[in-house]
Amino acid sequence: MNSITWIFICLMGLCWGSFLNVLIVRTLSGESIVSPPSKCPKCEHQLYWWHNIPIVSFMLLQGKCYFCNKSISIRYPIVECLGLVIFIFAFLINVSFFDAVAVIFILSMFLVLSFTDVKEQKISSLQALLIIPAGLVFNRYDIFNSLTGAMVGAILPLLFIYIGKKFFNKTTFGAGDVYMLSALGSVVGGDKLCLFLIYALLIQFVLILPNYVVNLIRLNKIETLKYLIIFIITCLFLYVSRNISFMGSNVVIVCFFLTMLYFAYKLTKDMVLLLKTDETPAKCPLAPALFISCLLFLC
Ligand SMILES: [Zn+2]
Repeated sequence: MNSITWIFICLMGLCWGSFLNVLIVRTLSGESIVSPPSKCPKCEHQLYWWHNIPIVSFMLLQGKCYFCNKSISIRYPIVECLGLVIFIFAFLINVSFFDAVAVIFILSMFLVLSFTDVKEQKISSLQALLIIPAGLVFNRYDIFNSLTGAMVGAILPLLFIYIGKKFFNKTTFGAGDVYMLSALGSVVGGDKLCLFLIYALLIQFVLILPNYVVNLIRLNKIETLKYLIIFIITCLFLYVSRNISFMGSNVVIVCFFLTMLYFAYKLTKDMVLLLKTDETPAKCPLAPALFISCLLFLC
């Protein structure tokens, strides 16, 4: 593609990011996306056209509302930039124009879900469900695999919901999570769903780790904290040592693997105990991990 086309793609990406901001704000407020026109979320004053130019407006206004002078969330320029990144990514991964549009749609919906999930644990069922047809279109040459992915993706969390309710009297997943996992399944397909769910779990683990540690300290669960530290160290060792070959290395790796399993068991046991009480150690919005997992698949 020539440079003019790229400039056009970048401009479209920024405008698309601006639209995604509207989707995020309106999903959280429950308003329609077409009306009313854009307004300041703090003073509710209707914005002028030049307040809606991606990135430029934020810089011109120096991050403050033109009317009430209150600060504008940094999320606006961030989402605009992410819209740009999604457009560039979709046209860089060497798929047809038709597939690039599907990729833009899939990633954008996951992005919006990520922001609303993190901010208010709010998931729009419609946005999550719309990813499924886009996933089917993207995998139209292997549609059976995509359908299997969507089905297994929905059944797995439903199983967890059932077990959680039956044995722990706890809500494990919400309806939104079921739709999102089904959506991921439709994108990655049934054959790769397990792998990308494991990636999503690992990403989720890294994302909630800081919050989890803070909560463990707050609840004075020092023992669990020790398990967690040993677990992370053994995981890191396993990752580093997977290519090392020296006499007896296999024995060492097996020992570390068993240690990791043991501490994973200990951590899960503590987590279940915490789930039985009301002191849930970390809020776990699922959408960001699914967004990153989906991105890894498309790479
Ligand atoms: Zn204002």
